[in-house]
Amino acid sequence: MKLCTVFLLTICLVMAGIYVTQAQPSVCIDAGHGGDDSGAVGHGLLEKSINLDVANRFHNLLKNAGYTVYMTRSSDKTVSLSSRTSYANSVGAGRFISIHCNAFNQSAHGTETYCYTSGSSTSFRMRDKTQPQMVAALGTYDRGCKTAGFYVIKYTNMPAILAELAFIDNAGDAAKLGDAGYRQKAAEALKRGLEQSREEEQTRSSMQRDSYYLAPRFSPDGSKILASKAGYHGLYIISLAGEVVRTLSDEAHVGYQAQWIANDQIRYGKADALFTATLDGRVARANDRQEMRVFAENGEIWLETYGERQQLTNSGDIYFNPSLSPDNKHVVYEGIESGIHVCTLTGDDTVIGRGNHPAWLPDSKGLVFDVTEDDGQEITASTIALVLLESSQNRFALTTDSMLLAQRACVSADGKQLVFDARGKLFLARLHGFSIRNCQEIKIVE
Ligand SMILES: [Zn+2]
Repeated sequence: MKLCTVFLLTICLVMAGIYVTQAQPSVCIDAGHGGDDSGAVGHGLLEKSINLDVANRFHNLLKNAGYTVYMTRSSDKTVSLSSRTSYANSVGAGRFISIHCNAFNQSAHGTETYCYTSGSSTSFRMRDKTQPQMVAALGTYDRGCKTAGFYVIKYTNMPAILAELAFIDNAGDAAKLGDAGYRQKAAEALKRGLEQSREEEQTRSSMQRDSYYLAPRFSPDGSKILASKAGYHGLYIISLAGEVVRTLSDEAHVGYQAQWIANDQIRYGKADALFTATLDGRVARANDRQEMRVFAENGEIWLETYGERQQLTNSGDIYFNPSLSPDNKHVVYEGIESGIHVCTLTGDDTVIGRGNHPAWLPDSKGLVFDVTEDDGQEITASTIALVLLESSQNRFALTTDSMLLAQRACVSADGKQLVFDARGKLFLARLHGFSIRNCQEIKIVE
């Protein structure tokens, strides 16, 4: 009996330990559409307004439960798909939940929940737990758990789902979407789905064979490229000829923070910790002590020099993804509505405007970034632009075919090469002044 009590006590202590170490994931809530883009319409309802109302209710429920919550929008604003994912990735959200309403032919009706086709195991579990909760709460037809390649669930560096609450153009479904009581029930269902999917936290890529590459970055000597697959799954070292020289990791969601720190060494983040990996396969914990660094906190950009903090932005937008220029004289960052900004270390701000994924030219004189258009579900056009700090009104389009959907560009350290992703393929070009030459797909051989 005594032994049993001790045993139980031990079990309790061990379980308490597990409970404490399993931190609540932060959540990014994405209210679909907004501003200029109403989304679907029907029966006097606008999708953007329904999505926002459910998102705000969901936000309040999670806040009250102690979660850290990020919102891609909390009012009727136009926010590009690329800004939504760029924001969620840069703040390091632990989960991404996008809220939409469906429309088709007025007779189609019901609820469906999506995750990316090659999403992580946690994405699938979150989808599978959320869908039945939504159907039960709304009393809608169960259209099932589905997969798709929607932009926001494909380019987010964390488990992500997209919920289609119901059909706004169907009379029966619209009556529920228009009812605040049902919208509250939908928000509660999203919370239950999230919590039920937390039981098993490890996250794997479900399909290692996915060959949809993104976010290429040159090695310091320009001879190799580091890239990830959709969902920022895995770390792959690829030669300029397209040979996968080394798979450093095939884990889900390890690619967003990854960067070269030497010709044979990568630094990357996983589960809030930093690691270094050498090309011969040695992995070690890394520390991130820097004399000067920039970071985003509560939607503002901060500079920290030898431990002393200075705020560089002063509200007006939600700011994120700051990056110091190589010469440590300027900071580039994104505003979720206002686009790209550059400021000096004293906070003198220049608005570059629409764009995402800024990357410094190696001489610190300018930036490359992508400028996208989208329809609220997919990117419909994108070009890589170059801007010089001296004449920030002068933009040069480096890629000319906007249907290529070029994004996430990187310039080599010698300033002579450009690499970017487009529709899951990697492209390499020679950078010549304000234009590119010999732009060719890197045909990847796995
Ligand atoms: Zn939608």
